Amino acid sequence: MPEGHTLHRLAEVISRLFAGRSWQVSSPQGRFAEGAAMLTERVPERAQAHGKQLFVHVDDAVWQIHLGLYGAFSFRGDEQFAGVGAVGAPRAARAGGGGERDDEGWIVPEAPQGAVRARVRGRDGWADLRGPAVCRVVTYDEHLSVLERLGPDPLRQAGLGVEEAPFELFLRRLARRRVSIGAALMDQAVIAGVGNIYRAESLFLERMSPHAGAAEIPEQRVRDLWTRLTRQMRDGVAEGAIRTLRPGAGAAAGPRPHWVYKHEGTACLRCAARIRAEELQGRRLYWCPGCQVVP
Ligand SMILES: [Zn+2]
Repeated sequence: MPEGHTLHRLAEVISRLFAGRSWQVSSPQGRFAEGAAMLTERVPERAQAHGKQLFVHVDDAVWQIHLGLYGAFSFRGDEQFAGVGAVGAPRAARAGGGGERDDEGWIVPEAPQGAVRARVRGRDGWADLRGPAVCRVVTYDEHLSVLERLGPDPLRQAGLGVEEAPFELFLRRLARRRVSIGAALMDQAVIAGVGNIYRAESLFLERMSPHAGAAEIPEQRVRDLWTRLTRQMRDGVAEGAIRTLRPGAGAAAGPRPHWVYKHEGTACLRCAARIRAEELQGRRLYWCPGCQVVP
């Protein structure tokens, strides 16, 4: 599933390519026909992400999108559009160039392929959304109540819909959870945007046991973890990928981008203990029992 950095990147791309100009929205597959009718021939103002949620503001309406496991946008058209390619689940996405222009100078899109939930068309290109978990039009107030239920997003230090500073909110919500830190990091009401890779890699780099009780971690350690996640996720937005293991950081690390994620059974690059994987609330948790021992 795309983690928060992907949604922030997508918000930036949609704002850059579509905001401030009239667009056309349709649902070739039909399942978003009603929503598309509310958005089309209007002017999108901006797209914003919070955690794994994307919100596109169009006048007083808000288009809410959650890519889920299979969702992806693919962009086609002039160099600007084609240069973006696809964002989201790699297998669902297709990228490519554009076609001819119509009488009004708009690039004519290719016929939709597969189940395209929504197609947005601008003058110089178009984007197809396939396979989202959520795709609906809500009111501004409904979007605020979605935000209120979400935890703070490390990529939005200013916060939105919440008065409290993001770190303090994270600290307070963690303190109320009677679960392990490994489970709490995946709870979008505790912290928004962290997925399986950021969980595994941030806990490893902080030498924090994923089984430590969320409420029992010393405040300074929580602050370090928050800072680590913020930095990792900012890198993710800038690079368009999650790379937590930098060349030269670990002996014989090779080109691999992660310390523990999907490396179960191999020797830890820090302590040589065997990296472990286990099921935790339906998701696979990767960690090193040799050097992730303290809360
Ligand atoms: Zn280790």
